[in-house]
Amino acid sequence: MRHSPWRHWPAVLAKRRPIQLTFFVTRRCNARCAFCFYPGAGPAAAGQDTEFSLDEVRRTAPTLGSLLWLAFSGGEPFVRGDLVELSRAFYDANRPALMLYSTNGLLPERIADMAERILAHCRDTTVAIKVSLDGIGEEHDRLRGTPGGFERALRTHRLLAGLRGRHANLEIGVNTVLLRENQHRLDALLDFVRRLPGGGVHTISVARRSPRDAHCADIDPAAYRHAAERLAGDLRARRAPTYRFAGARLKAAQDVVQRRLIHDTLVARRRQIPCYAGRLNLVLTERGEVFACEMSDASLGNVRDYGYDVRRLLRAPAARAARRAIADDACHCTHECYFITNILFNPRLYPALAREYLRL
Ligand code: SF4
Repeated sequence: MRHSPWRHWPAVLAKRRPIQLTFFVTRRCNARCAFCFYPGAGPAAAGQDTEFSLDEVRRTAPTLGSLLWLAFSGGEPFVRGDLVELSRAFYDANRPALMLYSTNGLLPERIADMAERILAHCRDTTVAIKVSLDGIGEEHDRLRGTPGGFERALRTHRLLAGLRGRHANLEIGVNTVLLRENQHRLDALLDFVRRLPGGGVHTISVARRSPRDAHCADIDPAAYRHAAERLAGDLRARRAPTYRFAGARLKAAQDVVQRRLIHDTLVARRRQIPCYAGRLNLVLTERGEVFACEMSDASLGNVRDYGYDVRRLLRAPAARAARRAIADDACHCTHECYFITNILFNPRLYPALAREYLRL
C-alpha cells in the first residue's frame, strides 16, 4: 500500500519537526547553465570523495523520522553512480509519500535505467521525475550551454514515458526555469510541452539569484502571471495532463494558489504567507551541511559534527536561533518547493484551496 501523505496531518497544527527534505546529492553537473544558483556546481565541481557517502546517508536518514516528501537536487542528481542506493536508503528509513528528482535529461539511458531500479524498490512511494526544458531546440541548448541537450532531454522524457505502463507510481513532469531571457517566449513552449507524447504536468520555477549571472532573475511579474494563467486555464479546460497520484486534484489546486502567491511576491517583494523553513523543511547538502532553505547562507550546522543525528543538530542553540529568525519574516522568496508546504500546512489558505479545487 502507498505511503499515505495524510499521516502527516498533525503537522498542520504542530510544526515540530521537518517532514520535507531537499538533498543536494552532488555539485557535479554535465550542463553549464548560466543561471545555476548553486555555487560551484558544474562540470568542474569536486568529485565523489568530498560527497556525503551512502554510509553517511544510512546513518543520517533514520534520525529524520517519517517524511512526507524528499527532493533530490544538485548538480545533476543522475551523475551520482549510487543514486539508486541513496534512494533506497531514504525510502527504507523515511517512508516518503513522494520522491522527486529534477534532471537536465542529458543522460537518457542512464536516467531511465536508474529510474526503473528506483521504481522497482520504492513501490509504495510516488516517484516523480521532472525533466528540464527552458526553450525549444536551440534556445534550450544555448540557455543550458549544452549543444544537443534539447534532443537528449526529449529522449529522456520519451524513455520515462515508456516506463509509465509498468509503474503506476511513476509521475513524469517537465519543469521550465523562467528567466529574463525566455520570459517573453513561453507561449510556444507551453504549447509544445502540453502536446508532448507521454504527458506530464508542466511546472514553472522562477530563476533565483545566480553567482554566474546577476540578471537572470530579473523577471517581469506580468510574464509570470501570463504563464500562470495559461497553465491554470489549460487545467480547468482539461487541455493539460494532470497528476496520476491520489490527491491529484488537491495538488493541482495548490499549484494554482501557489502561482498566484508567487506572482504577488514578485510584485510586492515581500513575503505573502508565513514560511515554515527549518520547521517543516530542511536542506542537506552533499557536504553534510544543514540549512533551513536553499536561499539561506547560514548553515544550521554540519550533521557530521552531530554524530549524523539531525534531531540533535536541530536542538543546538544556533539552529534554534536561525529557525526563530525565519519566523520573524526577515526574508522573502519564490521558492516553489517551500510554497507547497507553506500552503498545504497553513489552514488560513484552505478557503482559497477549496475555491480552486472546485474550479478544476
Ligand atoms: S521565505 Fe524563502 S528565503 Fe525566507 S526562509 Fe522561507 S524559503 Fe527561505
